[in-house]
Amino acid sequence: MRVDADVAIVGSGFAGSLTALGLRSIGRTVAIVERGRHPRFAIGESSTPLANLLLEELADRYGLPQIRVFSKWGTWQRSRPDVAGGLKRGFTFFFHQPGQPFGDDREHERQLMVAASPHDDIGDTHWYRPDFDQNLVREAEAAGAIYLDDTAIDRVAFDGDRATLDGRRLGQPIHIRASFVVDASGPRGFLSRALGLDASPLRWLPPTQGLYTHFEHVTRWDAVRPDADRPYPADDAALHHVFAGGWIWMLRFGNGVTSAGVALTDETAARIGAADGAAAWDRLLAGLPSVREQFQSARTAHPWIHSPRLAFRTARVCGPGWALLPSAAGVIDPLLSTGFPLALLGIGRLLDVLERTAPGKKCPDWDNALRAYERITLAELDATEQLVAALYASMDDAALFKRLTLLYFAAASFSEAARRLKRPELAPGFLLHGHPAFGPELHALCAMALAKPHGRARDELIKMIDAAIEPFDVAGLCDRSRRDWYPARAEDLVQNASKLRATAGEVDVLLERSGFRISSAGLKACTTSDHVRDGRSG
Ligand SMILES: Cc1cc2nc3c(=O)[nH]c(=O)nc-3n(C[C@H](O)[C@H](O)[C@H](O)COP(=O)(O)OP(=O)(O)OC[C@H]3O[C@@H](n4cnc5c(N)ncnc54)[C@H](O)[C@@H]3O)c2cc1C
Repeated sequence: MRVDADVAIVGSGFAGSLTALGLRSIGRTVAIVERGRHPRFAIGESSTPLANLLLEELADRYGLPQIRVFSKWGTWQRSRPDVAGGLKRGFTFFFHQPGQPFGDDREHERQLMVAASPHDDIGDTHWYRPDFDQNLVREAEAAGAIYLDDTAIDRVAFDGDRATLDGRRLGQPIHIRASFVVDASGPRGFLSRALGLDASPLRWLPPTQGLYTHFEHVTRWDAVRPDADRPYPADDAALHHVFAGGWIWMLRFGNGVTSAGVALTDETAARIGAADGAAAWDRLLAGLPSVREQFQSARTAHPWIHSPRLAFRTARVCGPGWALLPSAAGVIDPLLSTGFPLALLGIGRLLDVLERTAPGKKCPDWDNALRAYERITLAELDATEQLVAALYASMDDAALFKRLTLLYFAAASFSEAARRLKRPELAPGFLLHGHPAFGPELHALCAMALAKPHGRARDELIKMIDAAIEPFDVAGLCDRSRRDWYPARAEDLVQNASKLRATAGEVDVLLERSGFRISSAGLKACTTSDHVRDGRSG
């Protein structure tokens, strides 16, 4: 079999298919090569407001309304209820002490809840990847991409303006020729191996391992520890159980499946024998009695997966005729759900670069554009790694962990608002790492946290974090009277309009346009779940 295309994309996860859809819409011919077959299990499921906004932006830019519907819970449920997904209203954290049932005080010392949306209709989502990715690859095929599943590529060669990929499909030899190869095959993927790309050592993060699967019949935390006053139902979120040496994630889908797993330092992984799968999970939960209650009736719906090394990054991201998507160039940790926004930012940038070429003809600054893509991809992975490493260093100190986390929420909410106001230049780089004030402060504060400060130095660090956040806080994160429960309130954005160089009137328009603020009649009409509570929607 011989296939000719402008671009060959290796890997048909959501990132490969989205790249294909973008390329098809600008008239490029595309071949997607997949070694497996859909539907297939994939980890990495929790989206964020920034990720959903980036999905929306890509959909608008490339005329993909069928993809745009997935950027919000309400439009997804109304348009494509056949594609399983989960409602995500925010990020929920509970901090546990070894061997003790979870307990907290009125000040919520041992929890953090940050709402991302004021009501379900514009809520974020968890992507049930077997359905989600299959749907995207079908869309790419419908848009004219050639989809080659069950295909194993053994050899790639770059010669002048052409790349050739040779392998086998369904037992038959296959020969693919393309002007450019995009690696969308995930970390430690196709080009990393085929080109022998060096992995660059992580600078701050301790070595970590993962153990995860899908479950059915997981009891809601809301049932184990009910609290009617929470800013949103604790389980309609990315639910984190944090303890010294690791953290558990729980993501619920509408089809009864819950994705759950744990990321652990090597030391904790060795203590529970993480490679033992189910037995290791039981040993872990034996030390977390309240979490164990959630899993008493649960059963696994997929075999356990043990990842002996979670984090990875390459030293190179592109070369003549090829580029790795950010999700192939690196993965840091599931903490803070950074994988999707990084991948989506990278897809947008790479499509920008590829748009500058006519098939077989490159624009004069092509090499510079590719180099810039590499530089930004690596810088974003760096910023993510340092923040996540600072969080790992603080898992035994809930107050410091929470404040460090607010650096992420401040940067993410500021970036989202700036982009929605069509002022992306105010929010340069993921986590604002390219911002002349916030970027260096983020770096310095994380470095201080990594030094594990005690006593006065630690208290001073917390104050410095608050000071760094304040100029970018458009979500009420500095309001200590909220006791670490942060609802999504329209008035926070209106009151902080000047930080976004906008007027209150402009923010009002944005709030109406984005569905953030709607009348209670409208809200009832478009509500898709029982959990909307108008009284709290601001
Ligand atoms: C434990 C864990 C949890 C995570 N949780 C989150 C989260 O909650 N939120 C978030 O934003 N990010 C998360 N991430 C990151 C997230 O998983 C990735 O960003 C995302 O899966 C990337 O999607 P993708 O389409 O690029 O790659 P993938 O989903 O990995 O898809 C790659 C595809 O390429 C195919 N392939 C691989 N090699 C070859 C080959 N040689 N030839 C042909 N095909 C090949 C595979 O079969 C697969 O279909 C998590 C990561 C991990 C490790």
